[in-house]
Formats: sequence, C-alpha cells, structure tokens
Amino acid sequence: MSIALDNYSRLCVHTITTKPWSLPQAVDAYTSNGVSGITVWRQALEGRPIEESARILADSGLEVVSLCRGGFFPADTPEARQEAIDDNKKAIEEAAAIGAPLVVLVCGAVPGMDLEEGRHWIAEGITAVLPDAKAAHVKLSIEPLHPLYADSRSAINTMKQANDMVDQVADPSVGVTVDVYHLWWDPDLETEIKRAGKSILSFHVCDWRTPTRDILTDRELMGKGCINIPRIRGWVEDAGFDGAIEVEIFSDDYWGQDQHEFLKQIKEAYISHC
Ligand code: ZN
Repeated sequence: MSIALDNYSRLCVHTITTKPWSLPQAVDAYTSNGVSGITVWRQALEGRPIEESARILADSGLEVVSLCRGGFFPADTPEARQEAIDDNKKAIEEAAAIGAPLVVLVCGAVPGMDLEEGRHWIAEGITAVLPDAKAAHVKLSIEPLHPLYADSRSAINTMKQANDMVDQVADPSVGVTVDVYHLWWDPDLETEIKRAGKSILSFHVCDWRTPTRDILTDRELMGKGCINIPRIRGWVEDAGFDGAIEVEIFSDDYWGQDQHEFLKQIKEAYISHC
C-alpha cells in the first residue's frame, strides 16, 4: 500500500495542540477528520464535571491514549512535595475516569536544586503514587524533556536517565514516553530506545523550528523543522512500540490561526513526514 493511501488509524492529537478548542470542539473536529486518538490535557477537563468529559469521550469513539500530565514531584518542602503527590493521585483518578490507560509525567525540577536531588524526589514521588496507579490500572510514563528545561520542568533530560529511573522503580506500570522534540539531538538515542524496548509507552511528534523564538511555545509541524521523525519512529517501532503517533505542538503561531485549517495541515504532515 502506498503511503498516500495510509489512513489515520494511529494518528492521535493532543488537546493542547488545538488549545483554543474546548474538549467538545476538539472531539467533534477530530472525529469528523478521521483522527483516531486523543490525548487529553488536564486543562481541557476544567469547567465541566469529569463524568461529562468521560461521556463526551466515550460517545466519540476516539481512543483516549493518555492524560497529560502528572509529575512536578521535586519541591523544597515536605508539604509541597506532598501536594504534588496528592495532585498526581488526582490525575490518576481523572485518567481512570476518562478511560485513559496512561498518565504522562513531566517529572519536575526546582531552580537551584541539584539535579541529582531532583531525580531523588522524582523517584520518591513515582513510588508514592504507584499503588494508586496500579489499583486504577493506569500506567505512568516518564517523559524526558530537552535539557533547556532542566532548570524548572524536568531533571530527567535524556532517554538514558528515563531508562535508569524505570530500572530503579522496577515496576511494569512505569515506562517512558519518547518525544522527538526533546530527544532528537541525543547521540545515544538509538541505543537507549533499544534499551527501553517494551517499556516505551507513548510516542510524541512535532518539529524543531529554526530559529526557535520561544523554548516552550514555538514548536513546528512535522516536516517543517530539523528532526528526522521517520528515523526515530523506526527506532521506536523496532523496539516493539506499535501504539499511537501523538501530535503534540505547542505554538502561539498555530494557536492564533484557524484550528480547522491547522488540523488539515497536521493530517498532511502526519502522512508525509512521520
Ligand atoms: Zn511530549
């Protein structure tokens, strides 16, 4: 079958990608465009009872791929760390309520805190919420973030560090998320993806814009940046991953445009550049 005839059976879109849309608007647009999966950001659940969001999602027929996001475990005080643990337990509950089998963890970092200490609190936090996750049949996925975010968003910045954390926690309910935006530059990426194997729980795509004008909200459509996405997808699939290809684009530019037009471009980019 030629790639042009490929369908969208593995295409998943993150609600944050089409941030201007409410959950019902996103669900409508994704289903009418043949998108198969949805990853729900917690912001998209706000302002509506969780049961209602669950019903909207269940009625849509979309596969709920994951809930974004938990994490942010490191903090300076025991009280703040407990707050983070409680919030992660709430995220696990929400995931179970909307039928998401996975909570993606942006693990956290505190400016000025030693990164090693940050990783200690991340391991402690994951261990603390793990019983809740297992009871709810929700897995937890460690998403390494680009080193640019090591100050305040994640002390886990490479696949190696994520794999080490998975080994340390040593529980089948904990795995890793490969996001090409965060990891494309890493010379050890192929080796570490191989090492991760079946613990790869999800796969995020977008592209790296040159020049990057904002490190958080200037991501590009696949094919418009410098990341060789098909090569990384190949590594991930060789490692045994056969789940959704999740489009996660933070972009002030695209959020300012017509979201229906943007979704059309996402579908084209998915077929041509993923
Ligand atoms: Zn991601």
